[in-house]
Amino acid sequence: MATAPQCREAILAIKPYVPGKPIEEVQRELGVKDVIKLASNENPLGPSPDAVQALREASERVYLYPDGNCYYLKNALAEKLSVSTENIIVGNGTDEILKMLAEAYVNPGDDIVVAEPTFSEYEFAAQVMAGRAIKVPCRSFRHDLKAMAASITPRTRLVFICNPNNPTGTIVGQVVLDSFLKEVPPSVLVVLDEAYADYVTAEHYPDSLAYIRHGRANVIVLRTFSKIYGLAGLRVGYGVAVPEIIRNLNRVREPFNVNLLAQAAAIAALKDEAHVKKSREVNIEGKQYLYEQFTTLGLQYVPTEANFIFVDIQRDSRTVFQELLKRGVIVRTGDIFGYDTYLRVTIGTPRQNERFIQALREVLGRA
Ligand SMILES: *Cc1c(COP(=O)(O)O)cnc(C)c1O
Repeated sequence: MATAPQCREAILAIKPYVPGKPIEEVQRELGVKDVIKLASNENPLGPSPDAVQALREASERVYLYPDGNCYYLKNALAEKLSVSTENIIVGNGTDEILKMLAEAYVNPGDDIVVAEPTFSEYEFAAQVMAGRAIKVPCRSFRHDLKAMAASITPRTRLVFICNPNNPTGTIVGQVVLDSFLKEVPPSVLVVLDEAYADYVTAEHYPDSLAYIRHGRANVIVLRTFSKIYGLAGLRVGYGVAVPEIIRNLNRVREPFNVNLLAQAAAIAALKDEAHVKKSREVNIEGKQYLYEQFTTLGLQYVPTEANFIFVDIQRDSRTVFQELLKRGVIVRTGDIFGYDTYLRVTIGTPRQNERFIQALREVLGRA
């Protein structure tokens, strides 16, 4: 018998990403018709109508390769963010940029430093490159930057700060971040993942782009069109850093990594500031409603700066998850983050929030 093809040892330890359950799957498997998804932090208002119009128009051109350089999107971003186009890389979602970062900076046996719990894609990207994630427990659900700085080794290449943090919704403030950056060796690249930046209301949230404008050489800021811009299905994210970092990422980038429809929609979405403002308002309103309801139900939650809430439902979250599914509500269980009695729920429209609370009351026996 011939031996089977051998894959790389390093990838055997990788556990495939567990995505939020798709609406169609719940409809198919449980026969529930009216399903709402509060599991992946998508914008419940959907995309800007301008983005949809741009998509329609761009659809005529899909026989052409997209612009591999994302010229117009980069220009629109550069203007909005007051940086140069040389400071920007665009990815097929921020996820792709995370992978590019690992490909460009992590050698086999190198370390990355991450918080625990946090977004799982950082560790994934490092593992693909045979790197190792050093996980630093959060304190009161917040990044412990002192401990993270102390965990940096000579083999550390990347430190990830998820700000606001997924799944806890907490932020790292300007002062704390400033002193952290003073401690980090210049050889270590600090990745500030700001996927939820547009939802933040706290005044001490860092002005991270100022680091880049001042030429700080070991910081990259990541943002996405998947969350407040409502374009998760198109896959567009971007990174902002000094040109040298951008050049290194471009070395490992696929030539046509951002598709033509995604580029067109992202440009239009960026211009529609009214849609972003509305989305933010709906989120703030929904947050207040859910806080009140959780308090009424006697449930502890982590105050959030994002569009999701990490809430302790005081019993096995997988059971509650299944019961909510039967009632057509998809959320995220905390067990994947190491919190068996927590749920992470996306803040939806007022109607969706009410449906979630109604279903939760039933499941908890408080209907
Ligand atoms: C959703 C999310 C992203 C964005 O991923 P995309 O690939 O751009 O859809 C990045 N980081 C965190 C923490 C997220 O929750």
